[in-house]
Amino acid sequence: MDKVFFRKAEYDYTILKPLLFEMIESACRASIGKGTRVLIKPNLLLPAKPEAAVITHPLVVKAAAEYVLEKGGTVKISDSPAISLFAKILKDGGYRKAFHGLDVEFKEFKTSVKIDIGEPFGFIEIAKDALEADAVINIAKLKTHAQMFLTLGVKNLFGCIVGLKKPEWHLRSGIDREMFARLIVRIHRAVSPQITIVDGILGMEGQGPGKGGTPRKIGVLVGGSSAFAVDVAICRMLGANPDQLPTNKAAKELGLTGYDVDVTGDYEGINNFVFPIQDTLTFGPRPIHRILRKHLVQRPAADKNLCKLCGECWKYCPAKAISHDKEKVSFDYDRCIRCYCCIEVCPEGALKAVETLPGKIIRRLLLTH
Ligand code: SF4
Ligand code: SF4
Repeated sequence: MDKVFFRKAEYDYTILKPLLFEMIESACRASIGKGTRVLIKPNLLLPAKPEAAVITHPLVVKAAAEYVLEKGGTVKISDSPAISLFAKILKDGGYRKAFHGLDVEFKEFKTSVKIDIGEPFGFIEIAKDALEADAVINIAKLKTHAQMFLTLGVKNLFGCIVGLKKPEWHLRSGIDREMFARLIVRIHRAVSPQITIVDGILGMEGQGPGKGGTPRKIGVLVGGSSAFAVDVAICRMLGANPDQLPTNKAAKELGLTGYDVDVTGDYEGINNFVFPIQDTLTFGPRPIHRILRKHLVQRPAADKNLCKLCGECWKYCPAKAISHDKEKVSFDYDRCIRCYCCIEVCPEGALKAVETLPGKIIRRLLLTH
């Protein structure tokens, strides 16, 4: 049975450092020593201050890096952000300041290697630095995710797909959440991190994972050698059935987890955590899937007062469903595959997934029956 460690924590380095050291000592599958080349994969989605709870807090990553350096290893810290310059993310997110004087390399994933992750996906390009490291320390952020329910340890490794290959894979998986979850699980298996840590000290609830979500103090760090076990344990802590997280279900199908997790430490259930509203993306007879989706499934919408017409959403949209004029952005809801990537990348928090009126009525009817 996989062990998952829960530790009460806050963003105070004197508290964090011993906690991270203990967690890595207890849970890391690799022995880190002199010359071990370690890649740390935080969540560096976009430029955001740590208090926005969008990215992994720099002090959590710093403590893991110091552990490796003290053991004589080398540290590379990498991600492939959805938008913006890597340097800006490091600056705005407090990484430059936190790591001042520490001998680590920050390097955006740029180069990929093609590897076969199995049917139905076949060959996929995954960041070379992640595949070639001696050990990978996966440090995710605990957040809600409008498309995938939550983004935790397993989903964090989708960031090992470089640049615009990410929206391309969103499009290839289409509206099928379960297919996308299978893809994420296969990517995770290819990278195979030696330890997964989730920064849930300040997590995110509501319409995450970008700036449309709401920071929520949870006060916990969670870690384990199996990211699947970590994700299952966090679902339970938040009051969700592990099956609600599509990546858990996909991992169970593949025999990578049986949901039997040995939880140790400061485990306490969290009350009233706000999950994103999720509609089934395919329902009814197949010929009218598209019509039902258009009229019933929650759709991205922009707040004109917040939108700065920066262009990130229409550049990133995998379905090319967003257009714009001089005043506003518009959506083609026929083309839109409801991946909610636009919400994720919007630097202004101007996009939200909103329920359609017929969708709202049907959901209420279903809830009352
Ligand atoms: S909705 Fe957001 S991402 Fe899109 S143009 Fe406006 S500010 Fe930029
Ligand atoms: S409009 Fe948004 S939700 Fe729809 S396909 Fe494009 S990025 Fe995905």
